[in-house]
Amino acid sequence: MEILYFLILTFTVLSLAYNRVPLLMSMAIMIGLTIAWTELRHLFYVPSWFRFSNGIIAVTLIGFTVTPLRRLLISDRLYSWFRKSMPTVSETEQQALDAGTVWWDAEIFSGRPRWRKLLKVPAPALTEKEQAFLDGPVEELCRMTDDWEICDKHRRLPDNIWRFIREHRMFGMIIPEAYGGLQFSAQANSAVVMKLASSNLTTAITVMVPNSLGPGELLLHYGTEEQKNHYLPRLARGEEIPCFALTSPSAGSDAAGMNDVGIVCKGEYGGRKVLGLRLKWNKRYITLAPVATLLGLAFKVKDPDQLLGKSEDLGITCALIPTDTPGIEIGTRHMPVGAVFMNGPTRGEDVFIPMDWVIGGQERVGQGWSMLMQSLAAGRSISLPALGTAGGKMSALMSGAYARIRKQFNIPIGNFEGIEEPLARIGGRTYRMDSARMLTLVAIDQGERPGVLSAILKYQLTEGNRRCINDAMDIHAGKGIITGPSNYLAHSYQALPISITVEGANILTRSLIIFGQGAIRAHPWLLKEMKAARDPRPEARKAFDKALFSHVGHVFSNMVRALVLGLTRGLATSAPVSGPTARYFREVTRMCAAFSFTSDLVLVLLGGKFKFKERLSGRLADVLIHLYMSTAVLKRFEDDGRPEADLPFLIWAMDDSLCIIQESLNGVLKNFPVPGIGRLVKWIIFPLGMPYSQPSDRTSKNVAKLLLSENESRDRLVSGVYISDQDDASGRVHAAFHLALTSTNAENAIRNALNEPVNYENYRRLVQKAVESGVITEEQATTVRLAQEAARVVIEVDEFTREEIEGFKEQAFRPVADSG
Ligand SMILES: Cc1cc2nc3c(=O)[nH]c(=O)nc-3n(C[C@H](O)[C@H](O)[C@H](O)COP(=O)(O)OP(=O)(O)OC[C@H]3O[C@@H](n4cnc5c(N)ncnc54)[C@H](O)[C@@H]3O)c2cc1C
Repeated sequence: MEILYFLILTFTVLSLAYNRVPLLMSMAIMIGLTIAWTELRHLFYVPSWFRFSNGIIAVTLIGFTVTPLRRLLISDRLYSWFRKSMPTVSETEQQALDAGTVWWDAEIFSGRPRWRKLLKVPAPALTEKEQAFLDGPVEELCRMTDDWEICDKHRRLPDNIWRFIREHRMFGMIIPEAYGGLQFSAQANSAVVMKLASSNLTTAITVMVPNSLGPGELLLHYGTEEQKNHYLPRLARGEEIPCFALTSPSAGSDAAGMNDVGIVCKGEYGGRKVLGLRLKWNKRYITLAPVATLLGLAFKVKDPDQLLGKSEDLGITCALIPTDTPGIEIGTRHMPVGAVFMNGPTRGEDVFIPMDWVIGGQERVGQGWSMLMQSLAAGRSISLPALGTAGGKMSALMSGAYARIRKQFNIPIGNFEGIEEPLARIGGRTYRMDSARMLTLVAIDQGERPGVLSAILKYQLTEGNRRCINDAMDIHAGKGIITGPSNYLAHSYQALPISITVEGANILTRSLIIFGQGAIRAHPWLLKEMKAARDPRPEARKAFDKALFSHVGHVFSNMVRALVLGLTRGLATSAPVSGPTARYFREVTRMCAAFSFTSDLVLVLLGGKFKFKERLSGRLADVLIHLYMSTAVLKRFEDDGRPEADLPFLIWAMDDSLCIIQESLNGVLKNFPVPGIGRLVKWIIFPLGMPYSQPSDRTSKNVAKLLLSENESRDRLVSGVYISDQDDASGRVHAAFHLALTSTNAENAIRNALNEPVNYENYRRLVQKAVESGVITEEQATTVRLAQEAARVVIEVDEFTREEIEGFKEQAFRPVADSG
């Protein structure tokens, strides 16, 4: 009988923990159970050990529930330990940690994501005005850009492109209409950059920078009315070309470590003596700097004479400085790989600026870092992820088409399993990248500034771009390598490291920021515990106690959930939908619990030392990333109206993400900070072994098939990119692809009848023979001729005479004065 009671007790405890029943109510239920048992127990014999164990359970429960008792016994003692073992956080680190908002990342850390809440988030959509802008000026700009001419001949954007960008106010996408800007949503901003990037990277980067973190964004949030009224209309009209200079030779990733300085002093301005700053700086890598008219500058303010009456070191400050101000050195260019957007250094020596050039005026002196961090999240979710997704989409579009056009061993290379594999990776990754892009943009348009999710997006979508383009290069082989007007891949390939490096280099973002910031900001209790532990007031101990015990309950619940969901392969939880994706909702719920439980244990065991364990942090970041990416994939499928034909993309992306989650968790457990515990945790979160595997061959084939033909799923996958219908490098591939598909039946008929496969060298003879013998009609013959001729043109690569090559060299070093 005691076994029965024990089972009931265990089941009750597990159910209460699994369902997160609050502590007091759990206590009431347990007491009820004990009373019921006490009433019944006289009917049975109860051994003394059993009474004893019941006693222990009762004392533990009381200890946990009665606040004064648990404070005395546990939390007040842990308070001092917690204070000591917390990581030291500098002011700039704290401002970075505090920046932005928390969104779906909090659901992941909860271990119990609320799917219905996610499904209520509206599907992405553009306004009529935004769509018209994409179909009008943006499409036109794409048609105007010639990748080869821009990158290899002129090494700069031609003047007509600069003019077009300014005339159509593309530098003012984030500026409100009241100031003459376009006032676009984040989705429209991203869509413009993505479409431009699919045509020419240099144009896309030139347009994207003024609409990302820089003078426009900072003025909108922090500028004085006077500054806004003066600069925003000028920026919107393109009369000012802005840049923003943060990075210096000594301070790259550690941007807050800059030595650029502004001393508070009095100086001459406009014929009067005014309070201002005397500046000295040395910045590099600054996009648009060589042609900028307005320099946004970050520097540290020192006030040795305490003219502002605060302290001597006032901290990082941002100012807007016209580039014709005496003492500014600007104009020379760096030459980034693969793209020729304007980028260069700027130096300043003894430059005096009045105090009202500080963004937000004198009262914002020292607030620059916080302003930058607060403004980072939106731009970081928009521009670089748009570039990355464009790379994925173009890789899918062009590789699928080329693999169908290009034949070796007399069959399209896309039919080889070896090529199907990279094609599938491109398709699945692009679907996932675009899903994450769209979901995050919707959040931003709803007013979120998701710090952690923006870091995930920046890292994953630029890294995803690198992988897609690498696969595309392998599929294209020689065609991708030989540069010239017919090459549509090489520049994107060369330029890959740019987006990987900027706005937080990827290694740093993965190993330091994503999980580090996520654990503190998105965790339901950790930040509360840290805040309470930092607070020296006696009442903080009460708050600490509450946060600590809620945290303990959270860990226990996630442990139970991970175990139960592991034992039931996720079936213990319900999915918000039915059909083929329901399983994936349950698996993600399961992995959220496993992640949350594992990460809590790592944090508890390592305490403040965690900050230096970048390998563990990187692996946990990978889990967090793929929990978010797979959430986005599931949401996108619902938003698209659950098109069954898209399932291969979804299945590939979900299987791949779940496999990465599993491998990353396994990596954490193998390297767990305390030996032995990793194995125990593994048993809890994977009780029946490792359930996930790489996407199957069948899934991989199905994805490849979608890219190798014209169909709605492929159209949805690549929607939003520029599809050229001109006689240019990519336009010729689209045309040849269409013709190759149209002529397939006729070519097969010829091969079967004449026992010889058709290619662009023998087609004239074979087509003639096939028409004469009635194998194909005259109409089919025309299609085959056109298809083979189009294939021949696509397969050709460029060649240059010695004189032409000498000519490029001269072009490459044209003076900078020509630019912009
Ligand atoms: C083309 C281009 C355009 C740019 N545009 C601008 C601009 O407009 N304005 C501007 O202010 N800046 C700009 N930048 C600067 C850019 O933001 C920096 O390059 C970037 O912050 C990295 O600095 P770094 O290149 O000096 O690399 P480093 O800081 O030297 O880093 C080298 C490597 O170390 C890694 N690393 C550093 N710290 C850690 C850590 N704690 N843990 C793990 N890994 C770490 C990094 O991830 C990186 O892989 C631009 C850069 C380029 C290349």
